[in-house]
Amino acid sequence: STLIKAGSGIYLFAFLLIVLLMLLGFTFILYSLNVEIRLNKLKSEFISNVSHELKSPLTSIRMMTEMLHHNRVDTDERKSEYYSAMLEESEHLSHLIDNILDFSRIDEDRKKYEFIDLDLDKLTREFIKSISEMIRETGFEINYSCVVKNPVIRADRNAILQVLYNLIDNAIKFSGESRKIEIDLITKDNEIQLSVKDYGTGISPKDQEKIFERFYRSRESERSGIRGSGIGLTIVKKIVEDHGGQLSVESRQGGGSKFTVRLSMNGI
Ligand code: ADP
Repeated sequence: STLIKAGSGIYLFAFLLIVLLMLLGFTFILYSLNVEIRLNKLKSEFISNVSHELKSPLTSIRMMTEMLHHNRVDTDERKSEYYSAMLEESEHLSHLIDNILDFSRIDEDRKKYEFIDLDLDKLTREFIKSISEMIRETGFEINYSCVVKNPVIRADRNAILQVLYNLIDNAIKFSGESRKIEIDLITKDNEIQLSVKDYGTGISPKDQEKIFERFYRSRESERSGIRGSGIGLTIVKKIVEDHGGQLSVESRQGGGSKFTVRLSMNGI
């Protein structure tokens, strides 16, 4: 008892330390559980969004194929319209699948790149040309300008196409009533800057902090039923960073958004 009395200060200290450690452990478990629950919720929303995204182009391709198969499309002009719509839908489907595959590779750190000397101006022009039919049909207008001479970077062609596809697809989806998109290629501080600007819904400052997180979609996009799965910008950011570059956004709610990709002129 004399010994205990003498060391009671130490015992009390040890006891308080143990209680503190237990409290810390408990808080940590609660925090991890919360993160896990949030991630699981986002994952199940993602699965339902992706299934929906895959289903709608498939349904329209199937409907059009059935109509053609049963000779229910009379004129050649209508037939040709159906064929181009089917082509467009299958291209959209293929981009969606590329996104999903890319996302899983990125998530597991398995993404491989094939770096080549790439003319960014040429690639952007080719890409805009490939979607020009769809742009015309939806009433959009893309203004592209390049003031850089010979903007060659070390990059993976397909990965940069994926960046262009996601940024332009978002600009279209979130344009609201506006039908104007601007794409600019400039040089600044020995860097190439590719920007995609729209005049649509814009993004609130709070959402701007979260849109690059995987599966994140703003409340407005969910509420207004705009298609999407919340992985596009995660992919874009990862690809840009793997190319030694940076992705940033400037936006004002109701005043449109501008996404800028900064890449080093000499690549990595
Ligand atoms: P998805 O478009 O499939 O939902 P993304 O990762 O590409 O997924 O985008 C995440 C979110 O960022 C979108 O749901 C939307 O809320 C917001 N966002 C992205 N691009 C734009 C844009 N150009 N204008 C307004 N909001 C945007």
